[in-house]
Amino acid sequence: LLSPQPTADHVFRSKLPDIPISNHLPLHTYCFENLSSISDKPCLISGSSGKIYSFHETYLIAQKTAAGLSNLGIQKGDVIMILLQNCAEFVFAFMGAFMIGAVSTTANPFYTPQEIFKQFKAARAKLIVTQSQYVDKLRDTNNNNVDDESFPKIGEDFKVITIDDPPENCLDFSVLSEANENEIPQVSIQPDDPVALPFSSGTTGLPKGVVLTHKSLITSVAQQVDGENPNLHLKHDDVVLCVLPLFHIYSLNSVLLCSLRAGAAVLLMHKFEIGTLLELIQRHKVSVAAVVPPLVLALAKNPVVAQFDLSSIRVVLSGAAPLGKELEEALRERIPQAVLGQGYGMTEAGPVLSMCLGFAKQPFPTKSGSCGTVVRNAELKVIDPETGCSLGHNQPGEICIRGSQIMKGYLNDSAATAATIDVEGWLHTGDIGYVDDDGEIFIVDRVKEIIKFKGFQVPPAELESLLVSHPSIADAAVVPQKDEVAGEVPVAFVVRSNGFELTEEAVKEFIAKQVVFYKRLHKVHFVHAIPKSPSGKILRKDLRAKLADAAAA
Ligand code: ATP
Ligand code: MG
Repeated sequence: LLSPQPTADHVFRSKLPDIPISNHLPLHTYCFENLSSISDKPCLISGSSGKIYSFHETYLIAQKTAAGLSNLGIQKGDVIMILLQNCAEFVFAFMGAFMIGAVSTTANPFYTPQEIFKQFKAARAKLIVTQSQYVDKLRDTNNNNVDDESFPKIGEDFKVITIDDPPENCLDFSVLSEANENEIPQVSIQPDDPVALPFSSGTTGLPKGVVLTHKSLITSVAQQVDGENPNLHLKHDDVVLCVLPLFHIYSLNSVLLCSLRAGAAVLLMHKFEIGTLLELIQRHKVSVAAVVPPLVLALAKNPVVAQFDLSSIRVVLSGAAPLGKELEEALRERIPQAVLGQGYGMTEAGPVLSMCLGFAKQPFPTKSGSCGTVVRNAELKVIDPETGCSLGHNQPGEICIRGSQIMKGYLNDSAATAATIDVEGWLHTGDIGYVDDDGEIFIVDRVKEIIKFKGFQVPPAELESLLVSHPSIADAAVVPQKDEVAGEVPVAFVVRSNGFELTEEAVKEFIAKQVVFYKRLHKVHFVHAIPKSPSGKILRKDLRAKLADAAAA
């Protein structure tokens, strides 16, 4: 009998050379390595108040916060939960925690009490930093429906700190920000110590807790902004837009940590509102905009955009979800001077796997619709999902990544970790994509989202990108519907643009003209909005449930 021949993996690498990365340092030492030369430059700009914190002030308040957390009993390895929208205190709490070796878990303040407590308990958090308006969610008293007898109590079982007037049993943020920075305890931080416990977006199931270490985050930031020719070139005079929520790893890493490291200013926006956003971009001369496809959709399609001066923008980075080349090109018409491109990330991957090389200091030409090239100091391969064999250029398969930036593992779930990171250290993403002849990565869709029409594969992201290129369509999503003959057929949910007439037949025909027969839409439902996660993803699972409900009714 012949044993199968071991074949060498086909591994894709960045076009940029590997660089030395200081991932033996604690995260704060790494982020502020260049502090002395940028001390007086703006670091954080509050969009709502206009208040500016220099790098020196930011570092000092973070140190005070570190001392304050320690005064409250937080020690190395302890977890704090940050339950806030974007604001300077978010940054101080996160940095203060990592300065003393503590770990932050970040959560959406719009979560229900159940969702918050689930994460709070999984992370074994000891303290929550939040805003007074969310404190009611943390109390057992009202009908919060948390069916657990051992409901933890504010002040007794955990501490709550609010950034505004503290309600009963809560503490004011000044106990942190006004502590004595000389009282920071000496701690020894190891590269493999956890620093952040972000949760995945919950697009395909429940959000999963992810353990990221000092080493993973430093590696990821360095892969983006370090080196003589950084992949994402951020300059001291850049103003980087931070409208995406910091509780999601994309913004926390690629916006906040990358800007801190590179010495660029971060413009903090509390929440997304198109008018305010455009006004702030104009006022603060935002030069780098980190966005997600729903925001690209607004910037490309909303007529109000034309009334603002967006000429300061030199880079638009989109990530977190598929962005079709049609939409990318529509945005290019609106912001012609900017380099537009994508990054591809996944919480478990630390999160950045690939980044557009058009953002490099000495840029490379890139193509619309590509998610960039694998980051430096990392390896990427594409495998056949059935056989596990690695594939060459232009062959779609499951993307896998290896490098020091990936997660240590899932929180309290070694079985899930072992199912995701194999014995050779490859993280399996669950995303289908391919690498073209120029090393550019194109994501087709998630393995789990691909619609199977008879034997044929229909990626919903491809149809969605065609749909939103229609002038009368404001937004769209495609999901599978069970079908006796074909197994699954693609059906669309479509939001019409204001004031446009559009029939189901017209939509079907628009798609049918552009695709092979098995990708044709079988039904179009007109709706007012497409459900999306705060991290910018279409919640197709909600739409699938809607179809299932309708079928059952
Ligand atoms: P969950 O794992 O909880 O179901 P999630 O995978 O959406 O949620 P995240 O870790 O926030 O949670 O998102 C990672 C995923 O986002 C990737 O696996 C990929 O499917 C998608 N993604 C990220 N960037 C891009 C991009 N540029 N193009 C296409 N898809 C992207
Ligand atoms: Mg995921």
